[in-house]
Amino acid sequence: MSAETCGAEHPERPGTVCDREPHQNAGYHRERATGAVWAADPLPLVQGTGRGALAAIAARTTRHHHTGPAASAVIAWKDTR
Ligand SMILES: [Zn+2]
Repeated sequence: MSAETCGAEHPERPGTVCDREPHQNAGYHRERATGAVWAADPLPLVQGTGRGALAAIAARTTRHHHTGPAASAVIAWKDTR
């Protein structure tokens, strides 16, 4: 069991910290306790073959799966401010 977390702090919510597994600051951040989701850096384009490329494809697939809900959460949050 790993206790590793991303640890990135929400830029506009001090004290809100990403508790996802480390994700190289890519895609989005999320604090599970509060349900806060905020944007991170776009995933870098990785070209090549081998394990690195496979990992990049897996990361993109994961990000794609979560991009919609994450983006909606961020938009919903901004609308309530
Ligand atoms: Zn994060």
